[in-house]
Amino acid sequence: MQPDTTTRSDLVQDKHEVLSHVFGFDQFKPGQEPVIDTLLSGEDVLAVMPTGAGKSLCFQLPALMRGGLTVVVSPLIALMENQVALLESFGVRAGMIHSGRPRADNVADWRAVAAGEVNLVYMSPERMVTPRMIEALQALPLSMIVIDEAHCISQWGHDFRKEYIRLAELKSLFPSAQVAAFTATADDATRQDMVSRIFHGAAKVFVQGFDRPNIAIKVEEKKQAEKRLATLVRARTGQQGIVYCLSRKGTEAAADMLAREGHNAIAYHAGMADEERTVRLNRFLTEDDLVVCATIAFGMGIDKPDIRYVIHMNLPASLETYYQEIGRAGRDGNPAEAILFYGYNDLRLRRTMIDESGAPEDVKRVERRRLDTLATYCEAVTCRRNMLLSYFGELQDVPCGNCDICDVPPLMADGTAAARAALEAIIATGEVYGQSHIINILRGSQSEKVCTAGHDKLSSHGQGRQYTDKQWRRMFRQMLAQNILAPAGEFGSLVLTARGQQVLAGAAAVSFRQDALGQDKKEKSPAKKLAEGQVDAKLLTLLKQKRLDLAREKQCPAYVIFSDRTLIDMADKKPSDIEAFSQLFGVGDKKIEAYAETFLSVITEHQAGT
Ligand code: ADP
Ligand code: MG
Repeated sequence: MQPDTTTRSDLVQDKHEVLSHVFGFDQFKPGQEPVIDTLLSGEDVLAVMPTGAGKSLCFQLPALMRGGLTVVVSPLIALMENQVALLESFGVRAGMIHSGRPRADNVADWRAVAAGEVNLVYMSPERMVTPRMIEALQALPLSMIVIDEAHCISQWGHDFRKEYIRLAELKSLFPSAQVAAFTATADDATRQDMVSRIFHGAAKVFVQGFDRPNIAIKVEEKKQAEKRLATLVRARTGQQGIVYCLSRKGTEAAADMLAREGHNAIAYHAGMADEERTVRLNRFLTEDDLVVCATIAFGMGIDKPDIRYVIHMNLPASLETYYQEIGRAGRDGNPAEAILFYGYNDLRLRRTMIDESGAPEDVKRVERRRLDTLATYCEAVTCRRNMLLSYFGELQDVPCGNCDICDVPPLMADGTAAARAALEAIIATGEVYGQSHIINILRGSQSEKVCTAGHDKLSSHGQGRQYTDKQWRRMFRQMLAQNILAPAGEFGSLVLTARGQQVLAGAAAVSFRQDALGQDKKEKSPAKKLAEGQVDAKLLTLLKQKRLDLAREKQCPAYVIFSDRTLIDMADKKPSDIEAFSQLFGVGDKKIEAYAETFLSVITEHQAGT
């Protein structure tokens, strides 16, 4: 049975003609043509191409040119609807069968398929593999089966879906149909797993084009994440963005906060009712200033070209997921931004999630390695894009010039002595303690926990006094990232790796980012600056007045709010944002939360006045 629609094309028709007449494009995007040629020649294909590369066209065009029926298996209803609607806008009729629509619609579409009236039909994986569907399809001139978002078939893939597993049988069930699989996940283990599952080892594999030079990449140390998010979004008011959060609660908290700040913001996660999600997805697709705060699955395969930024409130699971997620920004090629908040707690949480995942040990091992790679990326000291691209097999020597590291290369400093002191303390206490306790020992704490354990008697006790708690935390993070230390067990005990042993033995050196080691010891003390008249005295008076107001209001002594030394430091440094504020003497998270905004506005007003 030959399809007979206006869009049916004769085999003799040129692919360029179809490209321009049906899709309205004058040329192929990089990487599309070889995939299309291979499919037209009848071979099976696995194409690994980044988000936005135009994978759909790679199978839609051959499907139209070759005639017969092409079944596209797609994991998300929203994705199917998006694609079918787009095809219809090109004048191509396509069918769709999934559980999210009325039975009558499914039946109507199936009739059209059976009658050969459509070349392309989209289906959910669970529909595709029912015995009834298989039998029905076996009676039709099935020319191609496409598996979109094919990484879902692999346990190594980050979106593993058990409904996808049975797709492995398609090759045997439909021996004469061509099979094509598409994904944006480039990771090698996943790729090999896909080839062996879907194609039983035989397929032509294309991997290409992972660079997205228009996305400016930035990783920030996570601090006061919500406030920082507010600041970032405020500076991007009216732009469309995605904010990724780890938990459903996180998405809601972020969306509420942004809405309160006056932005058009919504949450999106799998815990919402289907109808609600459809409504929100439609808003996302149609409104051009919407900020969506979503859990990770959001956005997979969706074609929305003008997302200007992607912010990660939490650490993703791996570089692959991260790259997929940031790849949703700037698909139109215009400048876009990706900002990731990187914090030690998130790193630890991710590790716990892996430990408790119940996955087989070998899967856990791969997951841990991936997480380590991501941590290393976050602590990178050379061009981030190059590191990403080399991870995906695309080597590039020249720094990209569009990431935070290229903007401001971190200065490195030798930290071997500090690292060895820390490693000694860890060994001496039996590798069973977490970071906080070790830092307490290094900083010479006389706390009960330290003394009862006799850790005040250790030779490393007090050996790291010259560094603040914050500085030590950063050094520990970098030691984790540099694979000198590894976390073990559920309580985050730190143990030495092989490399850590080398450092301890004096056989390897360690460098840290200089900003981690800090130069504040060399800086003049605030009191000295004040005495030398270097501090803005007028501002200091205003700050003291504000402190007094607050103290009266809270009925507490003024120094409980901030010490004089902090206020002097404040008047001296005049921080203009939370980030700078947090660097002040005596300012921790609690103080930031309680007072940063109040005091920042005093400074801003004063600055505006002078
Ligand atoms: P992917 O599945 O690889 O993430 P899509 O198939 O959704 O990407 O395509 C991304 C966008 O690129 C779509 O808007 C699509 O219409 C567009 N596109 C695809 N091929 C071309 C082409 N040859 N020229 C211009 N735009 C194209
Ligand atoms: Mg796609």
